Amino acid sequence: MPVPLLDLKRQYQPIMNEINTAIANVFNHNKFIMGPEVSELEKKIAEYVGTKYAIAVASGTDALLIALRAISIEPGDEVITTPFTFFATGGAISRLGAKPVFVDINPSTYNINPDLIEAAITKRTKAIMPVHLYGQCADMDPILGLARKYNLKVIEDAAQAIGSKYNGRSAGNMGDLGCFSFFPSKNLGAAGDAGMITTNDDHLYELCAKLRVHGAKPKYYHALVGYNSRLDTIQAAVLLVKLRYLNGWHEGRRAKASNYDRIFSLNTISTPSVDANYYHIYHQYTIRVDNRDGLLDNLKSNNIGSEVYYPLPLHLQECYKYLGYAIGSLPESEKASKEVISLPIFPELTEGEQQEVVETIEQFYKKQ
Ligand SMILES: *Cc1c(COP(=O)(O)O)cnc(C)c1O
Repeated sequence: MPVPLLDLKRQYQPIMNEINTAIANVFNHNKFIMGPEVSELEKKIAEYVGTKYAIAVASGTDALLIALRAISIEPGDEVITTPFTFFATGGAISRLGAKPVFVDINPSTYNINPDLIEAAITKRTKAIMPVHLYGQCADMDPILGLARKYNLKVIEDAAQAIGSKYNGRSAGNMGDLGCFSFFPSKNLGAAGDAGMITTNDDHLYELCAKLRVHGAKPKYYHALVGYNSRLDTIQAAVLLVKLRYLNGWHEGRRAKASNYDRIFSLNTISTPSVDANYYHIYHQYTIRVDNRDGLLDNLKSNNIGSEVYYPLPLHLQECYKYLGYAIGSLPESEKASKEVISLPIFPELTEGEQQEVVETIEQFYKKQ
């Protein structure tokens, strides 16, 4: 039985009428750019995350770029982040001419290891950008403590973590700015590219809102050079419908995750590690195994969806050769990139499908 990594058709079917009506409404009012759905979505996301403001932008990548611009990241600055993330995290830093400084991860959560951050701080460090990988928050208290001590800004890359919590606080409401992606496969996914920035700071809000419209306020008067990074009204309309279901979907994913935790019996397979004070939204359910590439091939030939997030840490990417990181310099990230594999997880996944995934994996290892 084939099992998809993600099946968005199963999500669409029960809410098809609501989505289609929301899209038709946009065609009827014709405000395709910055229509009423955009400001309504900003209000709802700010409420959901618990921040004073939310600024809708064209993608998660743009959210990171604009957030970094808003805190005045420039050539010569250093921003501390994790190498074990999607490329956009590092790319946004380098696109502003700044230098990403990579700090290794905690091997059990795959998030930046706060114990290693202080040694990476220099006179040029301006910000720390933790990533809440796979939908689980980074260990924020020590990160926020270091930011206070050294007067650094904190930008949360919460692209995979809308609704995720850490000691009762929401992802995107702990740093100076939070950045979200609504890429279609994220827990809250648009019908194309979409993103959001959250903040409690009046000044940063004003800056982000200007930067997304070419730095203009009022229209045609440019205090700074910004971007064209508005969120399409149609995307906001789709997201408003889906937002109503998001908490239920998180619970669905969490139930699937605990099924996997229960069904896996081989102790050579490391299932995700989550402390009690974290609310993990399981954007991914990621296990750690031996012979990962063998398993990847085996799952492929059995038509079971899986993916490696991410096979090459950022510090070893070709485009970052100039930074001079050697192989072995960030050992936990390098080890994780060879051992992790993410399995099908979405609210509509059936228990039969989960059984199939686990049996296929365990048979592969028993035959070895
Ligand atoms: C998805 C993602 C992004 C980028 O978001 P887009 O909307 O695809 O531009 C950035 N960081 C992380 C960790 C992501 O997972």
